[in-house]
This record gives sequence, C-alpha cells and structure tokens, in this order.
Amino acid sequence: MTRHAVIIGGGIGGLTAAIALRGDGRRVTVHERDAAPPVTGTALGMWPSALRALDTIGVGDEVRAVGRPQRAGAFLRPDGSRIVTLDMDRLRRRTGDDVHLISRPALLGILHRAAARAGAELRAGETADADVDAELVVAADGVFSRTREKIFGVSARFSGGTAWRGVVDDRPTDTFAEVWGRGIKFGVTPQEGGRTNWFATAPAPERSFSPGREVAALRRLFGGWADPVRGVLEALDERTVLRHDVYVTPPLPSFVHGRVALIGDAAHAMTPDLGRGACEAIIDAVTLAACVRTHPTIQTGLTGYDRERRPITQRLARVAGLAARMTRVRHALPVRDQLLRASLLAGPPDPAGVHSSSTSAA
Ligand SMILES: Cc1cc2nc3c(=O)[nH]c(=O)nc-3n(C[C@H](O)[C@H](O)[C@H](O)COP(=O)(O)OP(=O)(O)OC[C@H]3O[C@@H](n4cnc5c(N)ncnc54)[C@H](O)[C@@H]3O)c2cc1C
Repeated sequence: MTRHAVIIGGGIGGLTAAIALRGDGRRVTVHERDAAPPVTGTALGMWPSALRALDTIGVGDEVRAVGRPQRAGAFLRPDGSRIVTLDMDRLRRRTGDDVHLISRPALLGILHRAAARAGAELRAGETADADVDAELVVAADGVFSRTREKIFGVSARFSGGTAWRGVVDDRPTDTFAEVWGRGIKFGVTPQEGGRTNWFATAPAPERSFSPGREVAALRRLFGGWADPVRGVLEALDERTVLRHDVYVTPPLPSFVHGRVALIGDAAHAMTPDLGRGACEAIIDAVTLAACVRTHPTIQTGLTGYDRERRPITQRLARVAGLAARMTRVRHALPVRDQLLRASLLAGPPDPAGVHSSSTSAA
C-alpha cells in the first residue's frame, strides 16, 4: 500500500493534520463536505500550547499576526463588580505567549493556504468514510462524526445548554470578560479587525430556537446587565446572531480503531466553557503526525497517539463540563463565585500541549 493518508473533514483539525502529515512526504487527501469555506464566524481563543503546535507546522506566527492578543481578563457579576481578575502576565511568564483570538474563517484560511502549499490534495464538496482505501484514515469530521458513530456506535450528546455567538463591529478590545449570572453567562473577547466577539450560554431545551427573535431572547435574559454586556446588547443585529445547541462526545474507549484515528471534536467535543476545543484539535493533529512519523509502524504510532492524547483531552472535557455546571448554578452564588476565584488564582490554565517527544520530531 502507498503511503497515503485520507482525512475526513477539512475543518481546523483536518487541515492541521494535512499539513503535519505532508511533513514527511506522505500523500494526503482531504475530503471536506462543504463546497466552500465559511466567510463569517466568531473568534476562537488560541492558547499558547496550540500556538506552539501551530509553530511546528510553520503557521504559528501568521496566526499571532492576524489574531488579536488578549492582554487582560476578568470574570464579573451582572452589576459589573469583579469576581476575579485573570493574571494574563503569569500565563505570559509561564509560556512566553498570549492567548490570541482569531476568527474561524481567518484561521481556516491560513490553514487552507498552508495545506495547499504543502501539497495536500483538497477536495471540497466531497464526503468520505472510513472504508476508503488508505494506509491511514484521519476522522476529523466534527462533533456529529459519522465515522465515530460507525466505529464506536457513539453519537453526540446534547449538553443541556445552548449558545449564542456573534461579532460587533467598531468595538476594539484587548480584554476578555465573562459575566456570570444566575444560571447564565455572557462573554466578550477581542477579535481581529477592531471587532468585539461575544457569546452567551444558557440552559435550554434542545432545539428551542426562536428564528428572527434571538436578539429579543438575549435582551430578555441579559437586559439590565452592566457593560460590557449592555453595550453589546445595544449593538446587536438579528442577522448576525448565531445560535447553536451545545453537544459533547461521550468518553470513547479509544481514539483509534485499526488504521483510523479520531481527532478533534470527533474524538472529544466538549462544552465551550474552557475555550479549548479547536486548540485540542490542533494539538491532536500535530501529535498524531509526530507519532506516526517516529514509531516503527502506523499501528504503534496510532497506539502512541491514543496514549498521549486521550487522557488529557478527556480530562479537559470533564473539567469543561464541570465549568458548564458551575455557570448553571442558580443558588448560593457567593459560594460559586468563591470557587471560581480559587480555581483561577494560579492564572489561566494552559495544560502542556504537544508532548516534547512529538514536537522535536514534528
Ligand atoms: C460557542 C463555542 C465557542 C467556542 N470557542 C472556542 C475557543 O475560543 N477556542 C477553541 O479552541 N475552541 C472553541 N470552540 C470549539 C471549536 O469550535 C471546536 O472544538 C473545533 O471547531 C473542532 O474542530 P474540528 O476540526 O474537530 O471539527 P469542525 O470544526 O467541526 O470540522 C469538521 C469538518 O468536517 C466536515 N465533515 C463532517 N462530516 C464529513 C464527512 N462525512 N466527509 C467530509 N467532511 C465532513 C465538516 O463540514 C467540517 O468542516 C468553541 C465552540 C463553541 C460551540
């Protein structure tokens, strides 16, 4: 069999895997269901560990240059009072880097161009499944992964929460702020192009959307909250509000099966409360390529990938789930806020990303 990797899904994880796997000369084909990349989208926080993984495939500096660094951060109450300030300097001292916020289309654009430059074959508007004939199949087909369902019989599970997201123009900020209310939260972050990225989450029955009336729903839930929420709510335009229910991947017994490796949300979709899903997809992809390159066979490489990535990502998914439950608390808010303070006193957490043995080989 030729050294050919097929990647199912040309999202953040799939494109990163394409670039990383091309690094050792393997033929790589990416099948992406959508005919064209998204042109609109909200910001993703790239943590230093993910930026280091992007450095290993040569695009870290471009992401830093296009994205916007988050210089300050705080958790607030709805009246604007402070629960805890995030010590971003401590993160910078520990890692030498800032969290950078970059919109999904901008990140996908950078990865897409790098994958094309690296010589990956990119097939847009085409689906694929794990039966394809190849030495290695990478399932990067997202939270509703058909590959995962077929191999492990595990479907995405509704988390009990819904999320609104959007972008407000002409509001430059370099500060992350998350406001925790009674069972609901609202956040703002920097985004490139002088914009403010915002998000809000609340418990809600599955698919209880209000098309055309989401701004009214948001104003009902968050009306009366102090800035920065007030300013964003005033600027909202119904056409720019995205709403999605949040789904998670139940813990899998393995991220590999035969010659198939699951990465990103296909393997471990988590609630967005730590802002790490895309970061972990990137780290998975780079680690997988390094394991395949440094192990004597594809099979042992895949076993190494599973061993390196499953425990940490499943732990992060558990912590993200706990954080989601904390935001849904409706009583004893001072105790909850005290817990949040205690958990963040050591600064924003950024677990080690790509294992040193993987980076040195990547
Ligand atoms: C509200 C919210 C906020 C978030 N904020 C952050 C953040 O700040 N930082 C962060 O790191 N993460 C964040 N995330 C998580 C992040 O969006 C995901 O974890 C990330 O997009 C996962 O990347 P992926 O490549 O695994 O999957 P996806 O991005 O979902 O890509 C999967 C791709 O596969 C394609 N596909 C599916 N099936 C097939 C098939 N059969 N054949 C071919 N193609 C297929 C799809 O079209 C898609 O392009 C957030 C998520 C949410 C919901």
